[in-house]
Amino acid sequence: MISDPFRFAAEERSIQGEVAVADLLRLSDALASSEGGVLWKLEGALIEEGARREPRLRLTASGQLDLCCQRCLGGLPWVLGLDSRLHLVRAGQPIPEEELENDEVDAIEVEGELDVLALLEDEILLALPVAPRHENCDAPRPVGGASKESPFAALASLRGSPSAK
Ligand SMILES: [Zn+2]
Repeated sequence: MISDPFRFAAEERSIQGEVAVADLLRLSDALASSEGGVLWKLEGALIEEGARREPRLRLTASGQLDLCCQRCLGGLPWVLGLDSRLHLVRAGQPIPEEELENDEVDAIEVEGELDVLALLEDEILLALPVAPRHENCDAPRPVGGASKESPFAALASLRGSPSAK
């Protein structure tokens, strides 16, 4: 937790740490297992932007996550290499227009203190692949024919006909 992120940036401070993947609760839906940890570092800076000096944060993080393959539902190791540049904006203040056109920097609104782990979670969630899959794997066969059958297959078995394919 950073009590004053604007001051943190202005003084060009940095903090770093390691968090257990199991503590990043909002990631849990995407993971096959929550083993391991994520190393992170947050650096503050004031960037000259024309006549203004803008408070920026740079968040880097690395680690290996065990994602859940969308096809076979097995574990899929994925290397996290996060490098996010964030422009601090006070809550309620307009985001400078050029900021919206700059893909390399995201603006984040901050009111009061900054929860670093929540920010880390946000940034990891944005970095995750949308539909992670092994290059070669098969969809799991339904165990005992009970789990996740399509309604059509269920209908077919009710009628006593062989299910499709
Ligand atoms: Zn798979």
